[in-house]
Amino acid sequence: LPRQPAASPLLALDIGGTLIKLVYTASCGGGADGADLRFAKFERRRLHECFDFIRAEGLLACNGGTRPGGENMTLKATGGGAYKFADDFLEKLGVCLDKLDEMDSVVSGANFLLQNIPGAAFTHMNGQRNPVDVSPNNLFPYLLVNIGSGVSILKVTGNRKFERVTGTHIGGGTMFGLAKLLTGCKSYDEFLQLSQKGDNFVLDLIVKDICGELVCQKQGLSTSTLASSFGKVITSEKKLTDYKPEDIASTLLSAFTYNIAQIAFLVASLLGLRRVFFGGSYIRGHKSTMENISYAIDFWSQSQMQAVFLRHEGYLGALGALMSYGD
Ligand code: ADP
Repeated sequence: LPRQPAASPLLALDIGGTLIKLVYTASCGGGADGADLRFAKFERRRLHECFDFIRAEGLLACNGGTRPGGENMTLKATGGGAYKFADDFLEKLGVCLDKLDEMDSVVSGANFLLQNIPGAAFTHMNGQRNPVDVSPNNLFPYLLVNIGSGVSILKVTGNRKFERVTGTHIGGGTMFGLAKLLTGCKSYDEFLQLSQKGDNFVLDLIVKDICGELVCQKQGLSTSTLASSFGKVITSEKKLTDYKPEDIASTLLSAFTYNIAQIAFLVASLLGLRRVFFGGSYIRGHKSTMENISYAIDFWSQSQMQAVFLRHEGYLGALGALMSYGD
């Protein structure tokens, strides 16, 4: 962590399309390593809860709220909401937001985690979670796939050296939006729990459904390979209410997860990168999401590429913003 004088801010925010992420140090005066970091998140539509939290935790108290000259204190903030809600922060908390580029912040956050927090990077495959050893001389270049409301894909070649290669608007917001409409789930965690209890093969069309098992076996095709997500619905008489929300949730999660992983694979192949780090709140430390991403990357790359996950994956932007106090 950057050394922070006692009277400088200790809180940074990332105000995204869906969630507000906060990273702050445990005590006034600033921490010296990752162990002193605290994390909190709020739904963006509940901005007032975020304000209450900042007040209740005394996160502005370290700074006394106002600078000696009567000037408002400044917080580092990234994400589109840092622009949109700047006036609310000033009005409700009396703080100015120092707005930082979102991609700069995400990359600084990822690089900080990877270079300073032991065990921050890990693989999750075949039911096993294994730490990935990253040292500055074997870290770069890598592909960073940040799955938030939308998906950003970046090629990172060094500290502060990166290029936003591409992205897709079909991301976590799309999946969760559809999930709310189709399953009636109220929260993302409820959606993930539902998906764990469901069976995607109730709605998904697999190769065997099209060719029949015998032909598949003859042609050496894997019978369980997905041919079309939601494809079975077309030929069925069932209405939405005839499907279990669990099965719909499971189908949604696999459709989006495999799709994003496949795009990640394609971009990594085009750039000749073998290591793909995944961040963003979409992953949410959820085992089967990580398993499916890993499986897809391994499958498409014929084991030539590796999907790597990060602790605190949803807080990359906010962490990067916190790091910028040291600039
Ligand atoms: P953004 O910066 O665009 O808000 P995030 O990285 O915070 O993006 O990820 C938002 C996505 O993460 C949502 O679209 C959803 O898929 C997932 N998600 C994880 N936790 C939650 C939550 N508590 N509420 C809503 N979405 C969540």
